[in-house]
Formats: sequence, structure tokens, C-alpha cells
Amino acid sequence: MSKEIYLDGNATTCVLPAAIDAAVQAMRDCFGNPSSTHATGLKAKAMLDAVRQRAKRLLGVGSGRIMFNSGATEGIQTAVLSALCALRERRERGEAIGGLLVYGATEHKAVPEALAHWNRLLGLGLELKKLPVDGDGRHDLAALRALAPQAAFVCTMAANNETGVVSDLVGIGATLAASKALWMVDCVQGLGKLPLDLGNTRIDYAPFSGHKLYAPKGIGMLYVREGAPYTPLVMGGGQEAGLRSGTENMAGIAALGAVLAVLEEGGTFRSPSELHGFRDKLAASLRAAFPGIVFNAPLDKALPTTLNFSVPGLSSKELLDVFDAANVRVSAGSACSAAKAAPSYVLDAMGLPAWRSSSAVRMSFGPLASEEIINEACVRIERCGMALRNAGLMDTPVSGAVVPEGVLQLSLAGNHTWLLLDEPSRQCIVVDHQAELGERIDSLLHSHGYQLSARLSTRDGRAETDSFAFGARAVRRVALDSTRSAYLLCSGDKVDYAFTGLAALSELAGKVPVDALLCAGREEVNACCTSLRAEAQGSMASTELNLDSIALARLLQAQPQAVLVDVRETYEQAACIPGGRAAQSVPLSRLAAFVPGWLAAVDPPPLVFFCRSGNRSAKAAQCLRRLGYRHAYSLAGGVALASPELALAA
Ligand code: PLP
Repeated sequence: MSKEIYLDGNATTCVLPAAIDAAVQAMRDCFGNPSSTHATGLKAKAMLDAVRQRAKRLLGVGSGRIMFNSGATEGIQTAVLSALCALRERRERGEAIGGLLVYGATEHKAVPEALAHWNRLLGLGLELKKLPVDGDGRHDLAALRALAPQAAFVCTMAANNETGVVSDLVGIGATLAASKALWMVDCVQGLGKLPLDLGNTRIDYAPFSGHKLYAPKGIGMLYVREGAPYTPLVMGGGQEAGLRSGTENMAGIAALGAVLAVLEEGGTFRSPSELHGFRDKLAASLRAAFPGIVFNAPLDKALPTTLNFSVPGLSSKELLDVFDAANVRVSAGSACSAAKAAPSYVLDAMGLPAWRSSSAVRMSFGPLASEEIINEACVRIERCGMALRNAGLMDTPVSGAVVPEGVLQLSLAGNHTWLLLDEPSRQCIVVDHQAELGERIDSLLHSHGYQLSARLSTRDGRAETDSFAFGARAVRRVALDSTRSAYLLCSGDKVDYAFTGLAALSELAGKVPVDALLCAGREEVNACCTSLRAEAQGSMASTELNLDSIALARLLQAQPQAVLVDVRETYEQAACIPGGRAAQSVPLSRLAAFVPGWLAAVDPPPLVFFCRSGNRSAKAAQCLRRLGYRHAYSLAGGVALASPELALAA
């Protein structure tokens, strides 16, 4: 297996070796409770105080307070609670506080959620107001100027987690100069990447999270300006000078301290110009690999460690899958489900077109990145581009790629379009075409030299039956009722496949032969493919379908004739580093094309399907078992969890 390249630093980072050492030392040698007055406690307290002093120096907050907590979400809660409690008191004293809780439209969800939560719990009844951003993702200062007189509390961020866009904190500060509003700046993505001289600003609260900069998860800190109102979120033994009770997370604080030391002392993290150089290299490779790529934030206004991009015609899921296969970890710019990616509210707020917002990918790294890793990432990015081109997913001629043949399923939001591909004549029939898949189908056919010969719809209610030749086979339409048809793909008298749209099994009885493979129009109707006979027999009680790595190794030893089947898409397979155990390539979208061959085998070997995470392989194995193939298995957890000894291509 190739070495993992982790380019998802805005989600979290690995832990700096010096931070691991510091945490271990805190647990082993300096395990005291900093509240104890004996020598062991005093040692722990000295460490705690030293980290706090270092944080204060780094952030330039001599007179302000720094408190340690569990991370930025807690820091945000504490800041919001503190501000809102103060606003309530001021209002009760009869002061005018303004009626608006203003937050940037691209803030992390923790901010508006905390505002809404505490506003409701405290019964304040203030209005939450989104501050718009411009097309570059920067806060709209004119809008802020207009809101400032009614603003009670303003929440903005130092840099955006999805796009890396750096806020104009000087401009925001100037706009709020005459306002009495309290101001929180979420500095999570700024630490170690931006100069933060907080003491010289009018910022009241600034939360930080350790795990975004090489400290472990579960440790964070909150800066509170001297004189800014404060209400503890957690009450108890009065630790942290009463600001946050509970015995301190000393291992986490020690680890954070080691990271802050590296920041303060220099020499470990890359300089901004080196980081810009790394990003330029990655951007150049992305441009070469994905012609037409668009970057979703202006690079000169974003952190040098973040790239957010979309590629016309490719979903974020396809891009994530191909990068994951190449062992490059990136994330979707938006919450993404298997069926359809949800658009990103950050990119929506910037006014980007829907396709860019729903297909965005974020590539981010930290200041510990090395030239060697970036260079290897560039090689793999270019391989991913080639893999997608050869799979016909980008409309460019392919070289040396396997030409798809037989039947192929394309899915969008759970709806299936089926392509019937006759390789000798290079003719293609599309059943239940979906407009959104038009470009994908065009580039697939164009890049493999296919001609579209017909588009058929199962929502065709003509009564008469018709039939036409398709290469050496024939396609026959059978009317199911006055609104729907099924299409039968026949070899002579034998019906190989039936494309049945949304028809229920009961509607097919008598019209479709019992052994024809049914290819439905939606996942819920039937996954992959099935037959009337298989459905009538019901699922067979059988051996466990899911195998973990140990069970698979045992099976491969006991039954060396077992066949491993990689059901990842061809572009994922091509993106893997060559090598690894031999496996048959049958992308799940092409499973139906291979099923007849497996079912016809005289001495069927065990088939072990595998994919990235175990979902697609489980579908494939279930499909085969339903059709009577007893020894079909799925590798649970996929290549992501497979033991290295299995040597699966990854
Ligand atoms: N704010 C920003 C900008 C973030 O990126 C994150 C984490 O993704 C958070 C807040 C929340 O941080 P945590 O999960 O460490 O509490």
C-alpha cells in the first residue's frame, strides 16, 4: 500500500512528535494536579502557567485572559454565553443594547447554532442576522456598517475553514469602532497561519482549537479581552481562576504548549513563502490534471494552505473516491451523501453557481508540509486526472483504457439510467435518460467512440409491442400498463436483461421471463439486479456475507481458487499505485454485465468483493447471493480497514 498523503489539514492534523512527547511526559513525569499545593502539584502548575504565558506572548495579549478548554466549539459557547449574559444584564439595567446578533454568512456552524441556542435559553429574543459576504468570500463591510448601530454582538472568523478566505479583521474592526457591540473572532483556522496580534485589536473573544495545528483533539483555548464580560460555562472547583472548572487536561495542555513553542521559536513550520510555493505546485498539478477546473476562492485572498475547487462534470464524491484510491485524503467542500452532494452554504453565500457549490473539493495542508510530500501529491493528482479521463468522465479521447461493453448503470439521486453498449458496432442505447447525466453520457460515449442509437423510456405507454436489432442481439418493448413499458435485451429467444423502470415485481409476472436479469430504475425497487425467480425464492440462509481481514485471509488460504473482485469504479482502480494482489475489475456500475457469466460457471469459485469502505461490495455480494450464488462475500470495511498483509491494491 502506498503511503497516505493527508491533505485535509483544515479538518484536523496529525500530532506533532514534540507534542506527543510533551503529552507523554505530562502523564508520566508531571502528572500532578495543578490545584494541589504539594511539590508534585506545583510542578504541574508551573507547566500550565508556562504554556499560558507562551500563548499570551504569541497572541500579543499581555493584559487579556487565556483559558484552556476542550476546543473551539466550547470556546464559542463560552464567548456566546458571556456576551449574551452581559447583554441581558445591560438591558435589565435599562441600557440600549441593540437588537441584532450578527454573524458572518460563512461562519462555522458552531457559531449560529450557539447564538440561536443561548438566545433561546436565556430568553433574550434578539434577532440573528447573517452578515453577507462578497463573491470573494470577504465580509460585506458596507452591510456591516449599516447593521453596526443595531448590533449587540458580532461574530466573524479569521479565516474560513472551507475556502481559506482570510477576513479583513482590520476593516471589520474599523467598521465597528463606534459600535458598542461585543465582537468574537473565531481564530481556529488562523493559528500558525496568520499573524494574530489580538491585544492590539478591539476583539473581545477569540476561540482556538489545538487539533487544527498539530496538537491532539480535546484541547483548545479561549482569549478574553481584559474587561470583556465573562460568564463561566462550567462551574465547580474553580480551576482556571474560576473561568472554567474541572481538573485541567494537562496532557493536552502540554501538547498544545509544545506546538506553541515551535511557533514561537520558529524553524519547524514552513514560512509563508514556502507554503505559497507548495500551494502553487498543487494548483498547477490540479490545472494539468483537470482541464476546466475552477478555484472557488481567489488564491491571493486565501490562506496559502487551502485550495477549494470544482471540476465541471465531476461530482465531489467522484473526486473524493479517486483521491482516496490514490491514498490522497481530501474532503468535500460540502456535506456530501452517497446519492447527491448537498451544496456548501459557504460557497452559496459567495453567490457561486449551484454546480460549483455542490461539487466542491477542499485540499488543505498544514505548515508542517514538506516539499517531498507536496511533490508526491502532485504526481498522484496527475494520475487521478488520467484515471478519470481514461474512464471517459472527462470529455477527452482516452488512450489504452478498457472499453465498456454490455450494460452499465449510471445513478443520480437514487435514479438509475441504464446504458446498453454493443462493443462490435459501437452502438449505445440509453434507457431512462436523466437530463443531468446528459454531459456525462455524451463524454462517456464520445471518449470511447460509441454512437447513441436510441433513447428509450420506461414511461412509454403505447400498447403495441415492438422490437429492433441491436448488434447481434435484439431489444423488445413490452407494454406493462397504459403508462409504462419494460425493455427486454434478447440473444435469440433468450431474454438476458429486462429494464423495468419503477415497475413492481408483481407487474412483471408473466411479461418477463423468470430468469431474466431485472435492471430497475431506482435503488429501492431493486439494488444492482435480480430476477423474478430469485425474488420468489427469497434470500437463502447462508454463511456470513461480511468477512474481516482475518476471515478473508483464512478463506484465501483454504480456497486458493477464490476470486477477489474490485467493485470500485475503473478510475479508482487506475488511481491506485500499481501492484498488490491480483483482483478482477468489475465496477459496481457494471456488475449486471458480469452476473450472467458468474451464474453460468460450472464450478463457481468463492467471489470476494471489495471496495473503498465495504458498502458497494456488500451490495454486490448480496446481489449475487440473491441470485443463487452461494459463495459471494464482501470485505467488511473495504480497503480502508484491510490489513496490509492482504496487499490489496490501494
Ligand atoms: N471554527 C472553525 C472555523 C472550524 O474549522 C472548526 C472545526 O472544524 C470549529 C470552529 C470547531 O472546532 P472544534 O471541533 O475543535 O471544536
